[in-house]
Amino acid sequence: MVQQDQDRVLQDTERVEGRTALRNNVDAAIALADAVRSTMGPKGLDKLLLGDDGSYLVTNDGVTVLESAKVEHATAKMLISTSRAQDDEVRDGTTSTVVLTAELLINALELVDRGVHPTIIARGYRMCGPVVEQTLDDISILADEATSLSSVKTSLAGKGDSSLQNKLAELAFAAASVTGSGEPEHTRVMTERSGSIKDSELIPGIVLMKARVHREMNLKPQAGRILILDGGMEKRKPEIEASLKITHTGAIEAFHARERADLQARVKCLSAANIDCLVARDGIEEEAHAMLAAAGILAYRRVERPEIEHLCRATGARPVFDVEDIRDEDVGHFASIREEKWQGVEHTIFVGSQSQGVTVVIRGSTSMRLEEAERAFNDAIGVACQLIREPRLLPGGGATQIALARRLRRHAETIPGREQMAIEGFAAALEAIPRILATNAGLDPIDELLRVTAAQAESDSAWQGLDVNTGQTGDMRKASIVEPISVTRHAIAGATEAAISVLRIDDVLWAKQDAQEPDWQTDED
Ligand code: ADP
Ligand code: MG
Repeated sequence: MVQQDQDRVLQDTERVEGRTALRNNVDAAIALADAVRSTMGPKGLDKLLLGDDGSYLVTNDGVTVLESAKVEHATAKMLISTSRAQDDEVRDGTTSTVVLTAELLINALELVDRGVHPTIIARGYRMCGPVVEQTLDDISILADEATSLSSVKTSLAGKGDSSLQNKLAELAFAAASVTGSGEPEHTRVMTERSGSIKDSELIPGIVLMKARVHREMNLKPQAGRILILDGGMEKRKPEIEASLKITHTGAIEAFHARERADLQARVKCLSAANIDCLVARDGIEEEAHAMLAAAGILAYRRVERPEIEHLCRATGARPVFDVEDIRDEDVGHFASIREEKWQGVEHTIFVGSQSQGVTVVIRGSTSMRLEEAERAFNDAIGVACQLIREPRLLPGGGATQIALARRLRRHAETIPGREQMAIEGFAAALEAIPRILATNAGLDPIDELLRVTAAQAESDSAWQGLDVNTGQTGDMRKASIVEPISVTRHAIAGATEAAISVLRIDDVLWAKQDAQEPDWQTDED
């Protein structure tokens, strides 16, 4: 295609090429990182987020800040989705991911200005991967109960006061230990606007915000069998469109009698299967309530799907579509069922027999405090579950990043090509984490970085880091500042991938805002 043709093809498109494109993208990444940088670490500050509708939110959570930002820039959107992926996968380390991506890009741009091609930089960054992996494995230690709890507490540093942190850490650790599955979804979080955070509790089961369908039903506190119905227990509708033709008196009566008999037959099926409690996703016919009560069966209707799923995990039940074919393996078991009034609202508490579904009820006096506690708990349960899957810990307080930077610089010396410069850039980017932690605590970032680096070299230990609460350099294990290996590994890998994908862009094309529309289209509007 000759240049003229090319220009015509792209006439409704704006275009930015080469270094300008990279510079624009890096600027977007910096802007985004700047928005969350000051929240990082225990001394990080909170952000006040204001909505269009006058709503407001105070948060210390990186991903919450990013998601509320009205971002148009494609690169910024990409970075936000990297941070979201970190949140989905490991739930913690979201701020670190964004900050690291921005630093990797800033250092890359500097190298581009010095004449290194982005492809070489991308290759150099990729070469860091195996060294990072190996180093993380080398410096990590096996987690035990005490250090695991410390690491859950570390993830809550800076989020609320210490009584909130301690309570949430204990609950997250307990919930993860009980379920033992390493799946954060196996812990349901509920917030209740009453009491204070110290009244929060772990329930080995599920809480439904509803009461049994009929007061006459007997609430037995002891263990029993539960059937979960993925549907309802309502009158059957005729399968084909039919109209009822009344030919003699009593026809309607007979029709209703048949319907009642049908419901009664279904209740019999439940009795035959020794069901003590029925939970239905849809409705349960009014007429069936008394029949169920008479048969000694407790019943709950219109239970939402996520609650049904959690109830299945807690009781080991499998949902059935019809009460007429109950197999014994579908029946679940509960340890107890009780009703409680919370703030005047009926709640039913099912304590399960299986430990695969538990509920954490977070209590507090204001909805803002509850929301922030819920977000913090999210990080904490993520960390606790990560440790179940992979019980290895790394030092926090910037120690890991400094140890990686030292190792990478030594590795860079062995690489003869220009990739060497990129590896050095990667090492420098990692050091942004301890620098920011120090800055946010009002300490001098350069002095602290040098001090920790020297302490690591002198003691030959990667565990020397900076405790920003005391301002001291020391062993992070002794200071109980520890993090799951998976969170750090994921943050570095995610940031590297995001930075490389931005580096590979050398042409940005986008449709002009006021692209010409055909006349017939505008006329119709
Ligand atoms: P992220 O969203 O990346 O998890 P956080 O605001 O949770 O960001 O901050 C996490 C960082 O804070 C980690 O690098 C962790 O090592 C560090 N950190 C936590 N407690 C301390 C402490 N007492 N001293 C220094 N650094 C700490
Ligand atoms: Mg965190």
